[in-house]
Amino acid sequence: MQSSDRQAEAPGRGPRVLVVGGGIAGLGAAQRLCCHPAFPHLRVLEATARAGGRIRSERSFGGVVEVGAHWIHGPSQGNPVFQLAAKYGLLGEKALSEENQLIETGGHVGLPSVSYASSGGSVSPELVAEMARLFYSLIDQTREFLHAAETPAPSVGEYLKKEIRQHMAGWTEEEETKRLKLAILNNLFNVECCVSGTHSMDLVALAPFGEYTVLPGLDCTFPGGYQGLTDRIMASLPKDVMVFNKPVKTIHWDGCFEEASAPGETFPVLVECEDGGCFPAHHVVVTVPLGFLKERLDTFFEPPLPTEKAEAIRKIGFGTNNKIFLEFEEPFWQPDCQHIQVVWRDTSPLEDAAPKLQDAWFKKLVGFWVLPSFGSRSCLQGKPHTGRFTPPRTELCCPAGGRLTGSSLCGIRRHSGLSPALSSALLPQFPGPGEAGPTLSFDGQGSVGLGIWDVNVTGVSSLLSQVAGVRPGLNLS
Ligand SMILES: Cc1cc2nc3c(=O)[nH]c(=O)nc-3n(C[C@H](O)[C@H](O)[C@H](O)COP(=O)(O)OP(=O)(O)OC[C@H]3O[C@@H](n4cnc5c(N)ncnc54)[C@H](O)[C@@H]3O)c2cc1C
Repeated sequence: MQSSDRQAEAPGRGPRVLVVGGGIAGLGAAQRLCCHPAFPHLRVLEATARAGGRIRSERSFGGVVEVGAHWIHGPSQGNPVFQLAAKYGLLGEKALSEENQLIETGGHVGLPSVSYASSGGSVSPELVAEMARLFYSLIDQTREFLHAAETPAPSVGEYLKKEIRQHMAGWTEEEETKRLKLAILNNLFNVECCVSGTHSMDLVALAPFGEYTVLPGLDCTFPGGYQGLTDRIMASLPKDVMVFNKPVKTIHWDGCFEEASAPGETFPVLVECEDGGCFPAHHVVVTVPLGFLKERLDTFFEPPLPTEKAEAIRKIGFGTNNKIFLEFEEPFWQPDCQHIQVVWRDTSPLEDAAPKLQDAWFKKLVGFWVLPSFGSRSCLQGKPHTGRFTPPRTELCCPAGGRLTGSSLCGIRRHSGLSPALSSALLPQFPGPGEAGPTLSFDGQGSVGLGIWDVNVTGVSSLLSQVAGVRPGLNLS
């Protein structure tokens, strides 16, 4: 091991604290500690060249594009993110209004929305509303089983499916409508997977599901970008607290470590970085993502964590939430439309055998959130591509004869932080011109704009690890 980095050495005496990870959790911890006079010697070791982690606002398109987190859920006084954002003056008037803070959404926010089926037609809003009422009443029912000794099903997914089967017995419509109802419910399952960060609701235990607290307040966004919050927290920290490009390899703890520059002093913790740099400390706060901990559990802590902590890391599941940004030359949505729900025909939450994700991952896309137009400039195309460029070969049919081309998909790669290797692995999953394959077709017309798809696809993350290798800071899960 090399001797400690000079920049980690803090002058004077007092406990040294290291925070590993400079996402909002690490920055928040650092801010709290800095306010405390007992912790003057603080460093945040961040693997990448930037702070914020999964909060990242891209501003180079002439508007704000949230690559990671987008919403403050339940923006009201009990929400610390809301409080900080309000304190820093980062929220708009509507979000700050008392009226907005008092709205009880029950966690089911309905944006002005339109639903399209994969066959190309729009879906009756009444049918969508009926299925949403059914689905969310069932979700609300799950609270009844909070801490119950026995539950009617082990998982939320199995409970919902059981109840839906019972409701179906009372459906009197023709077969086609029944199938459409199931396809709409399938979309709502996908939305819930996104909200719960899971690949399947069958993986989410029913008994503790009601522990999730829904705060009042209609979800709001940051007009200037979510990253304004992490930027402000970082700016509040004393100079030199942040240490960038310092991926931590192993945390040696419960030891007795010395530092050449402080003879006679011992530290119980030594944080060893990938580049060989070592940081002795009295305390360490670890805020790296769960996915990273799962992958590196065997080597990240030395000695290994106590069994119950290691088991918790192994047993807590997580899914993948990614975003794909699509740019259309001509919007096909109405000007007041904020959300486009995608209903995949002939899908059903009751299907036992799910298709292989590699073949059907796009059916887990839940919809588009419409972003404002950033003028007539094309955002995703014509930008310099980093890394290996995969030539456009993909065409997805768009409404009104518009086309979404492979170069837009390369835009996905760049803006989602996916590696070139991953993007070239994804591209072949779309058909080339004239080939059969997944086709999205929609009705409509409009002007220039940008759409987002929110994706929850475990396949994408496993591709990421297979093709690109999981690297700290790359994992957006
Ligand atoms: C696409 C997407 C959309 C989301 N939308 C929302 C939303 O609308 N609203 C909402 O509330 N939440 C949303 N979230 C979730 C939210 O972004 C995260 O919960 C939150 O940002 C996590 O913060 P964190 O500090 O715990 O982790 P992270 O932000 O992941 O920070 C961890 C940091 O640790 C660093 N790191 C990793 N390994 C090492 C290492 N070995 N050494 C040193 N540093 C390391 C990483 O580089 C990173 O900077 C979304 C997430 C995603 C991915």
